[in-house]
Amino acid sequence: MIRKTRRLAQRQDSLLQVKPVRISQSFTRILVPVPAAEVDVALPANMTFFVDNRFTSTQRGRIRTLISRCLEFWRLHYEQIAENGRSNYQNCVNTYARFNLAPVWFDAKLATGSAAAAVQMDGLTRMIVANGFGRAARAQIMYQLPSSTVPNFTIKAVNASNPDVSPLSVTVNPRAISRTDLLNVTLTGSLFHAWLHREGYRHPSRVYTSYMAGEASMCVMRNNANKTPGVPDSRFTVFLD
Ligand SMILES: [Zn+2]
Repeated sequence: MIRKTRRLAQRQDSLLQVKPVRISQSFTRILVPVPAAEVDVALPANMTFFVDNRFTSTQRGRIRTLISRCLEFWRLHYEQIAENGRSNYQNCVNTYARFNLAPVWFDAKLATGSAAAAVQMDGLTRMIVANGFGRAARAQIMYQLPSSTVPNFTIKAVNASNPDVSPLSVTVNPRAISRTDLLNVTLTGSLFHAWLHREGYRHPSRVYTSYMAGEASMCVMRNNANKTPGVPDSRFTVFLD
């Protein structure tokens, strides 16, 4: 009987992976599979997020897609390191990032963008693990419409400082997430940037160029390609908080 109950619980558990579950009046729980990445720590099977119920199911689906894209970008970094000793992300960040290379919790000074990219991804690994194994507080996807007091934004987050316990909570503008003219890769960079604030990265308000938090996010948005002459950074940074 106990075994039967346990089996049922496991079955319900696996159902959660495909079906979002409304857990309260306010939030729906979604699980996002963690891809197998070549890291030296045990990875959880899923990450868990609590999405505000005011988002439509389409908006919630896109948020889930963006989280998956961030995780795929993270996985690819480690795959390329395993194969070539260095990732495209490291090369991209190395080309452009100069300032605030280290997160607030990092004691040593980082000399290069390449080293900074490696530290950043290792910090994200810790956050994925903390989320997936339930060591961090609940990661909430909060809902906010821009207003006269809240300037227009895409995805934003408040600063946090401890990747082992700080949840990857962000606030999403539902109008931005419904824009079909915005590519997923652009919105993925916006989410990645909000996560960088949660991971401990800082930049002066509205200043992104040459700062780790800004350039790393633009590398995501360009899929690690070099900048194109004549295309201003503002084309990308308008989607960053
Ligand atoms: Zn920012």
